[in-house]
Amino acid sequence: MDLMEYQAKELFAKHGVPVLPGETVDTAEAARAVAERIGKPVVVKAQVKTGGRGKAGGVKLAETPDEAVARATDILGLDIKGHVVHKVLVTEASDIDTEYYVSFLLDRANRTYLAMASVEGGMEIEQLAVERPEALARIAVDAVTGCDAAKADEIVAAAGFPADVAPEVARILVQLWKVFVEEEATLVEVNPLVKTPDGRIVALDGKVTLDGNAEFRHEDVFTAYADKVADDDLEGRAQKKNLNYVKLEGQVGIIGNGAGLVMSTLDVVAYAGEKHGGVKPANFLDIGGGASAQVMADGLEIILSDPAVRSVFVNVFGGITSCDAVADGIVQALQMLGSAATKPLVVRLDGNNVEEGHRILVEAAHPLVTLVDTMDGAADKAAELAGSAA
Ligand code: GDP
Ligand code: MN
Repeated sequence: MDLMEYQAKELFAKHGVPVLPGETVDTAEAARAVAERIGKPVVVKAQVKTGGRGKAGGVKLAETPDEAVARATDILGLDIKGHVVHKVLVTEASDIDTEYYVSFLLDRANRTYLAMASVEGGMEIEQLAVERPEALARIAVDAVTGCDAAKADEIVAAAGFPADVAPEVARILVQLWKVFVEEEATLVEVNPLVKTPDGRIVALDGKVTLDGNAEFRHEDVFTAYADKVADDDLEGRAQKKNLNYVKLEGQVGIIGNGAGLVMSTLDVVAYAGEKHGGVKPANFLDIGGGASAQVMADGLEIILSDPAVRSVFVNVFGGITSCDAVADGIVQALQMLGSAATKPLVVRLDGNNVEEGHRILVEAAHPLVTLVDTMDGAADKAAELAGSAA
């Protein structure tokens, strides 16, 4: 379960990672009282489960309580990469001397934990990781010994933290490791961890992903931080319909059956997209084994209401639910959606009763549907349609 920044910071505070005081509000006017209580300039911050809020206008400084209300008005309701802002954090503003980056995460590929740290943190960290990977230290952390003082010193040295901040950053890394272990997270990230002009080190932002498999040991935390999902949030709506949907940042909507097939569909679409203006998958959606017409309609409805989507790739391997049932599902789903279906659909069917599935789709001759036999061919077609719709 991904946490919002304010929740991450509550866990940081609980384990001794320094954060600044703040409170969340869900109306702009309520920001006034919080800013008054803080009694200093504040930062008003969108609470959504996506990064890049700063660049999207979701993080704003406010010198006075009046300004805090104005900035909260700007930010509440904003759509940040498909996440509508319903809550803002009003928190004490900090002066910044330097922005650092630190994180712990599960390194599945190497079957270990990993610490990452950089003295060049801030909003360009992704770019840094790509362009100058040497500026982002990566140190394996053993699951048994964890991040003790010696490991923390090693991370701090590898990242090149200057001597005046190294001991405090190392101390914070040890506390952050406690968050990681005791809360059973798969990711804890601080970006930026800042040095203030008077030499203090503070976590100004926080990202935590809790391990859903450990929920039974942390029911209090999971209950407290469970999503009270909003109706206009795509993931929230999908969750209410029991769809296995994850919003991504591309333009090609994806529907498939089986997590493995959907994952590989994302890969082939991303690859095909390189030839068509760099289009990418817009989502992960696994409609599972028993893909009824209703599930297909629900899935299509969610994907088509994503404004970023320009084409949809339906990639189904007929198994328990055979291709003719899936084809019926697509035809019925398009009927149910009527004029809400507006974007081209590329359909690739294979497996049980594939001929009958094809026959049904050909007979229905829906103007938005293109049938393609191969997965690569269909990915290419879907990417092409998305690229040319730009
Ligand atoms: P993100 O864009 O979603 O990662 O949101 P952050 O919380 O990291 O904020 C984005 C950027 O806003 C940070 O990298 C800082 O440069 C800036 N920022 C955030 N809080 C403060 C603050 O208290 N003071 C100042 N001066 N800048 C801040
Ligand atoms: Mn950040």
